[in-house]
Amino acid sequence: MKIIISLMLLFQLYIYGQPKILIPFPPQVLHAENGNSVLFEIHLADTSRVPIEVLDCKIKRNSKVLYSNRQFIASPHKDDVNRYYKNIWLAGIETGKLVIEVKCKVGNDLFKVTREVQIENKKPLSILPPMGKGIWWAYEGPDSLSAHRTSFQKVARVFDERNNGFLLGYNNQRFATDWMMFGDENKLYRNDGRKNTDYYGFGQPVIAAAEGKVLRVKDAIPDNTPPGIDIDINLETGYGNCVVIDIGDSVIAYYAHLKVNSIKIREGDFVKKGDVIGAVGNSGISTAPHLQFELGKLSVPFGESSFGIKSQSISFVFDKYYHLGKALDSKDEIPVPAVKMNNTEKQILNKLPVSWEIIKVE
Ligand SMILES: [Zn+2]
Repeated sequence: MKIIISLMLLFQLYIYGQPKILIPFPPQVLHAENGNSVLFEIHLADTSRVPIEVLDCKIKRNSKVLYSNRQFIASPHKDDVNRYYKNIWLAGIETGKLVIEVKCKVGNDLFKVTREVQIENKKPLSILPPMGKGIWWAYEGPDSLSAHRTSFQKVARVFDERNNGFLLGYNNQRFATDWMMFGDENKLYRNDGRKNTDYYGFGQPVIAAAEGKVLRVKDAIPDNTPPGIDIDINLETGYGNCVVIDIGDSVIAYYAHLKVNSIKIREGDFVKKGDVIGAVGNSGISTAPHLQFELGKLSVPFGESSFGIKSQSISFVFDKYYHLGKALDSKDEIPVPAVKMNNTEKQILNKLPVSWEIIKVE
């Protein structure tokens, strides 16, 4: 009997059905000063161990092809190997229904899977910038390639019956930004940048971007010494000292990498918009003082969300900031980027700064 069951199990691993695609979260619109874009992910899986070979992946709107690229990223999880995902960024659109078409091959069989999805184009949440007064650089903000935007927190597959597909993970940082402060001569630090106190941002106030109830406070992790990471990184410590606030409608605001012992609020407290909640630090996965900020929508209670990792990053905007310019796109320049400032500052209402944008907060 045991042998028969084992054989059946073995056999099943090589039986494949139609691969399934899932759009795990409605496409979100990024509202940026230089134009709007739509961001989302596609998950592709079947339960066999026979690899899915994607021959074509197209995204259409009103029959017009907006995107064509067959590259998927393999995302094996424990014994579950046949699972893939990809991040999509469609510039210049913000409304409508998208049709995703994937042509693929499993073993000798060809499949064509399609899925329709509506772009979520409701008004984004308008919040305060979470940084204090000063000039700030959006390092690793939303852009098509940034590490935040393409982050993927994989989980054991979950079948989503309503959408007939497998959820393989979460993107909780699609719209996250690492904010670093500029000081004199548009530099990030004085001296040689080997001390936290060299950095203009270190110790700057972190502001509640929206009101809500404090769900989590972590406040005893020592700050790293730049440019190293001095502690063991795990699920508990990755965000460093941090504050998570429930701002309503199952949305959490995440303030991360704060300065050790700088947090003045406690779990269960209610904070008002504009309250100072802590100070910019260099704790957790952080090699220089900065504030990481993002909003995530929870589909499970926060206590079951692996510290918010099981949330989906949602679109939001800052109610007001001043656009000053952009750092040049040279990763070699970090941590002192080449900077191209505009001659005039431009007031921006209800947009989200993108990667490399330099802004002033008043
Ligand atoms: Zn970050």
